[in-house]
Amino acid sequence: MIAGNLKSVRQRIARSCERALRPAEDVKLVCVTKGSSIEEIKEVLDAGAGILGENRVQEAILKYNAIGKRPEWHLVGHLQTNKARDAVKIFSLIHSVDSLRIAEEIDRQAKRVGKVQDLLVEVNVSGSITKFGIRDDEIFDILKRLSLYCNINIKGFMTIAPEAQDPEFARPYFIKLRQLRDEANSMLNTQYSILSMGMSGDFEIAIEEGSNMVRIGRAIFRG
Ligand SMILES: *Cc1c(COP(=O)(O)O)cnc(C)c1O
Repeated sequence: MIAGNLKSVRQRIARSCERALRPAEDVKLVCVTKGSSIEEIKEVLDAGAGILGENRVQEAILKYNAIGKRPEWHLVGHLQTNKARDAVKIFSLIHSVDSLRIAEEIDRQAKRVGKVQDLLVEVNVSGSITKFGIRDDEIFDILKRLSLYCNINIKGFMTIAPEAQDPEFARPYFIKLRQLRDEANSMLNTQYSILSMGMSGDFEIAIEEGSNMVRIGRAIFRG
């Protein structure tokens, strides 16, 4: 089942890329394994998954210990400061940096282990009070401050669109994140490239609007 689901998700990604006139290799798939068992993770790895995404550090550590460093682990969920020490040990990319304070702590912990931690800044493009993420009117100020830290490396941006029945509802938020990245690159003279946007319910729209990293759980493991 999981192998079949993965295949069909990959086909849907490829078709969205075609519609957007982009090569399919443009879009990286993060298989979100939160709530999935070790058996299920082994199944998705056997089927060729390249990146695993977890949203809790403790759960990720247990799985990492069972499965190993390969292929690649990403943190997609909110990170608390007291978990940063563990997070820098196992994740190659942290998608969910949503405050200056957590970025500082990641920098500090990365320095301790002699690493430069790749990360994405999570933006709350919908302005929803229930969501994590930095407000878009604060983002430039925060990016400037983050550029001063030596043990973190900002690769781009992440967002979670508001949940809706109709995935079209998410489109303006994805457009907003892409514009924000392009604006940042031109104003701050940076080369932020990653746009982590799109989940099971809305990844096709996200790809049409420029996503190059989709985070998919249910469509693979519960589809
Ligand atoms: C759970 C989760 C996903 C995957 O969501 P699905 O709807 O299961 O595809 C993606 N990103 C984050 C931050 C998540 O917590």
